Amino acid sequence: MSVHYNLSCNIVPQKGTLRVKGEAYIPVPQTKSLFVLNRGLKWKDVSQRVVDGTHPVNLYRTDELEVPRFYNGELWAVEATARQEEDKENQIIIEFEYSGQIHPPRKDAEMPTMGYIKSDFVELACYSAWYPVPLSMETYMSFQVALEGPEDWTWDANGEHNEIETSDQTSVWNWKQSRQVNDITLVGMPLRDAHIDPESFFWGIKRMVGSQKVFDKHIHKLRGMLEEWLGPRGTKAPLRFVITPRQQGGAYTRAGMVVVGGGYPTESSLHNAVLQAMSHEICHDWFSKASPLTYDNWVDEALAEFCSIHIVNDYVNDDYLSSRINKTKDQLEKAGELPAITNLVREKNESYAAFYYRGFLLLNEVAESVGVAEFKQVVGDFARMCTQSESITSDMFLNLIQEKLGKKSRSSMEKWLDYSGKGVPE
Ligand SMILES: [Zn+2]
Repeated sequence: MSVHYNLSCNIVPQKGTLRVKGEAYIPVPQTKSLFVLNRGLKWKDVSQRVVDGTHPVNLYRTDELEVPRFYNGELWAVEATARQEEDKENQIIIEFEYSGQIHPPRKDAEMPTMGYIKSDFVELACYSAWYPVPLSMETYMSFQVALEGPEDWTWDANGEHNEIETSDQTSVWNWKQSRQVNDITLVGMPLRDAHIDPESFFWGIKRMVGSQKVFDKHIHKLRGMLEEWLGPRGTKAPLRFVITPRQQGGAYTRAGMVVVGGGYPTESSLHNAVLQAMSHEICHDWFSKASPLTYDNWVDEALAEFCSIHIVNDYVNDDYLSSRINKTKDQLEKAGELPAITNLVREKNESYAAFYYRGFLLLNEVAESVGVAEFKQVVGDFARMCTQSESITSDMFLNLIQEKLGKKSRSSMEKWLDYSGKGVPE
């Protein structure tokens, strides 16, 4: 199921405030929905739109499900009370209004501050629950956003950018995303601080982007090489790296938009590693439809690792692959006892080591046993399949492996996926 959002937002960076008026279009038969909203945001008005007006809803705080740690907010239940027959459109429309400030995560959550509204930068994504985030990440969304902000600010979001309407003191920016995505991400900064260059992959504050521009020519090449291998990307959105002043929490990717806290290090000793990290994010354009709520997500992370490490190896021609295999073995060893990949979901702490390290080593093991060139060809076939499909599962990948490389390759992958313990299976 997917929710459609229509949001009219007002952000005052100088005051750190956000006000949102909007609607969520929720497919029936669901009459009760669970949403996470930041603790600093207060509901003002929530009702159900019916044919001839609005109808009250039951809105209450609940703990009936645990909010995943990466969401910084409280869980709310919204129960539609109007009879469904009244709805001709086969959906329930919830109208809402809320306002306030974005609160950082509680200290005891030990999570980085991923969202904020400051006078010199705004970064908002699902982590800070700045919009009512449907609790299940399987609940994908489409959206339309109108954002009113200071007239001398520039903004970006993970949607198709439409016109900007400027009035006296403010500008209204509009985006539309009709594809199903798993977040609505908004970033903004004062125009006078902004790096603006249509030739560059980077978006962000001038003084932070300056050092990043050395990567532009490499990203251009690497992306071209990936497209040659994996086929057209899964999104039409232009690829861009948004550099935000956030110092913790790393990077996340939303439909062609890679948001990176603090930017990438520029020391030459880290050059190849940075190119690989960037390529990893680009690879999510092909594989990101694997659900983070099930172990299927290993396919997304392990293939992003595999493809990015191999492409950088081809690009730098510097024995990068074998150094990464050794390094990954060490990292996996250090991670100690881990559950089987099939018993993990993204939210679990161990999933990083299991999906990234063990997953990458597992793909390499099969590649070496059948021949790297042949295996890479199958990965290319799978990537093309992924961009054509609604969702991706581990079984889809294993079925293709079996079809192209035989039962033995599949069985050895299944053995790795079911393996729990230290390191890799014997
Ligand atoms: Zn990733």
